[in-house]
Amino acid sequence: MAFCSWKGEEYYRDHFRSGTYHCVKCNYGLFSSLSKYKHDSRLPAFATPLNKDSLSKVPEKNRRLTLKVSCGKCGNPLGHEFQRDRKDGGSRFGIVSQSLKFVASFGGMETSKETEKKYCASPYSSSSSSTPPPSSSSSSSED
Ligand SMILES: [Zn+2]
Repeated sequence: MAFCSWKGEEYYRDHFRSGTYHCVKCNYGLFSSLSKYKHDSRLPAFATPLNKDSLSKVPEKNRRLTLKVSCGKCGNPLGHEFQRDRKDGGSRFGIVSQSLKFVASFGGMETSKETEKKYCASPYSSSSSSTPPPSSSSSSSED
């Protein structure tokens, strides 16, 4: 289940449903799924924030072109802006999944727990199979 716990940490990284990503603390709209894009980094990547005041930014010490970003409303830390990271010269926002809450565009709310479960359950066939996948652990009720 190693890949699963990794997956669980950044459950929005490969999450591409249409909707908006909100601050998990104050529910303020931060990013649209339209600005989300695939990136090799371990964090979910966004190109532009939803609103001008969605994010507050402070320069990261000793790291050029890198800003610390937090929620523009409540100050919840979100991740980083990497300036000029994109081919078109734009910024990439690397945002920690745990600080986000996804709201699907059709109005359905999706909790991070559900998303995590869904992605963990997806049949990824891991190439390095040093340990056999636990096939009969679906009925365990942990937590
Ligand atoms: Zn907030």
